[in-house]
Amino acid sequence: MSRNAVVTGGTRGIGAAIARQLQAAGNAVAVVYHGNDAAAEAFRKDCGIPVYKWNVADFASCESGVAAVQRDLGGPIDVLVNNAGITRDVVLHKMTAEQWREVIDTDLTSCFNMCRVLVPSMRERSFGRIINVASINGQKGQFGQANYAAAKAGMLGFTKALALESAAKGITVNAVAPGYIGTDMVAAVPKDSMARILAQIPVGRLGQPEEIARIVAFLASDAAGFITGSTLSANGGQYMI
Ligand code: NDP
Repeated sequence: MSRNAVVTGGTRGIGAAIARQLQAAGNAVAVVYHGNDAAAEAFRKDCGIPVYKWNVADFASCESGVAAVQRDLGGPIDVLVNNAGITRDVVLHKMTAEQWREVIDTDLTSCFNMCRVLVPSMRERSFGRIINVASINGQKGQFGQANYAAAKAGMLGFTKALALESAAKGITVNAVAPGYIGTDMVAAVPKDSMARILAQIPVGRLGQPEEIARIVAFLASDAAGFITGSTLSANGGQYMI
């Protein structure tokens, strides 16, 4: 069945793969990005998925952005993928308040913003699929990532609480916790750290964005109606929980 779907951070990396996978499954998809116009334009040209530029950390921007998406898609959003995320890695004793806030706002508060805007209409229509893209580092912690690990762990609690509130209204809320995936975000990790990380991944390689996208598309489908409040880990065996 065709649904309207929005993917935050959908112009690059994991989000772009998710958007394409949802499109291939027959959904009408829109994606949100923040600053990289060239990547957004290349993505739009390549797959025809409309791109919208706003900061998901800002509530008012989410309100007006969602209204524009719904107007353009011609109906309410059924599927929300909270995927936009950033890192500002630095050990806590050197972390600035700004580095803390930026990551919490972009990675975690964005989930509140988008859900707060969309959940009321999902409740009215008794259907919704929300998938939050968390991280292995929200499950196990990571050196230099107190901000990111806190945001991603927060997403897991948020997922469970909202799943409880939404279950009787036909809305499922799940999280995916990827391990290390070959995207721009991971390309920014220094080479020596990357070698150490690769040595800890039992399957011996990085994941591919498509390997996360297929999970998200399944959780977004009607077939996944009995799965809610869960966290699906896809990390090549790096962390088993
Ligand atoms: P990328 O850095 O490749 O892409 C990030 C996307 O998010 C871009 O489209 C970017 O837009 C968008 N974005 C960033 N900030 C904002 C904002 N404030 N408002 C709107 N859009 C924004 O990330 P990945 O694909 O690597 O990661 C995607 C998600 O998966 C993230 O939440 C990340 O934490 C998580 N993850 C990634 C892993 C990995 O190994 N790559 C592992 C585990 C989790 P723009 O292009 O304009 O900057």
